[in-house]
Amino acid sequence: MSSGLSHLTHLECARCGKRHEAQVLQGRCDCGGTLLARYDLSGIDLSTARSRDPGMWRYRELLPVAGEPVSLGEPETPLLYMRALSERWGVETWLKDDGPLPSGTFKARGAAAGVSRAMELGVKAIAMPTAGNAGGAWALYCARAGIELTVVMARTAPESNRIEAEVAGAIVELVDGSIADAGRRAKEIATERGAFFAATFFEPYRLEGKKSAWLEVFDRAGESSAPDEQRMKLPRTLVIPVGGGVAAIAAAKAAAEIAELGWVDEEPALLVGVQAEDCAPIVRAFEQGDEEVAAWERPTTTIAAGLRVPAPAEGALVLDRVRASGGSMQAVAERDIRLAVHHLAATEGVFACPEGAATVAAADRLARDGALEGPVVLYNTGSGTKYIDVLGEG
Ligand SMILES: *Cc1c(COP(=O)(O)O)cnc(C)c1O
Ligand SMILES: [Zn+2]
Repeated sequence: MSSGLSHLTHLECARCGKRHEAQVLQGRCDCGGTLLARYDLSGIDLSTARSRDPGMWRYRELLPVAGEPVSLGEPETPLLYMRALSERWGVETWLKDDGPLPSGTFKARGAAAGVSRAMELGVKAIAMPTAGNAGGAWALYCARAGIELTVVMARTAPESNRIEAEVAGAIVELVDGSIADAGRRAKEIATERGAFFAATFFEPYRLEGKKSAWLEVFDRAGESSAPDEQRMKLPRTLVIPVGGGVAAIAAAKAAAEIAELGWVDEEPALLVGVQAEDCAPIVRAFEQGDEEVAAWERPTTTIAAGLRVPAPAEGALVLDRVRASGGSMQAVAERDIRLAVHHLAATEGVFACPEGAATVAAADRLARDGALEGPVVLYNTGSGTKYIDVLGEG
């Protein structure tokens, strides 16, 4: 049953297809698979969505939140034309800039949806591991919701993330090692304190929140050419930084849902997933033709801290979605990430986070190989202001 404006009906395991009840708290399927939200896609009208205020809640039917969301006034974020990059690559290039969201990154979209659902399902306490930005965003939304939050992060996570989570009243625990070690510790804490364990892919709704970025993109992309009240427009290539891979999977899910709704005519967009050479487990699996992703062995230090995910929980799903789209996985060098941050700021006026800037370095390589198909949308997942300490070095 759906309730409120949401057309959410149930959760479905991405691995075995089993159906799960959405009105109770869920983590993962008994088979170990990730649960994906499913909706009744009949009778949803694009013009109804467009009659609402812009921003993520415009697409209420395709989001899981039934009632009033826990919101910090998430604005629709800009889809900016990239003049210099379009000229350099010879293809129309846009950048979806999620820097203006609360907490300064797209993690706000996931937190808004995830915390809203936790509220609706009666959760009083949450524990989660984070590479950094998710901890900051969830701390703010949990503060607003009155939910107790414990975040566990690597000692090497950016200081800005630790401080913002602490200032927002979260309990912060630092561990030696990577986000994988933080995950084990957060799981223990959840069990000890009776908190809901909300790690990436153990909580089904942050993905839905992240999906909204793509609904906004497809909605705006139509306006730039022929405005048609009944249509969204898919860009040809989406270039997306990949840590855990939620953003990339969410892009594929958004495209599939609006295709099923009949809101688009185009072929699904090519997905290009971008990792740092310093931590590229999914790129390696892609290049080897593997279906599962083996954990990255070496310690990671990339300045793109959101990409320090050595053992992604759903690498297989990322590979599947990227391959099915006809796209690819790309690894970019640390030096190129830094150059791209500077280039974006100095030529296009966008102070991007290193993760977002990595998409420029990846697209640049594809363009040089004659393999970049336009229109292109680069995804800047956050603001460079969260990284001033590391961007000042080197
Ligand atoms: C978390 C994060 C990413 C990676 O996103 P996934 O959805 O986990 O792949 C990219 N950029 C920034 C700024 C992040 O915080
Ligand atoms: Zn299953």
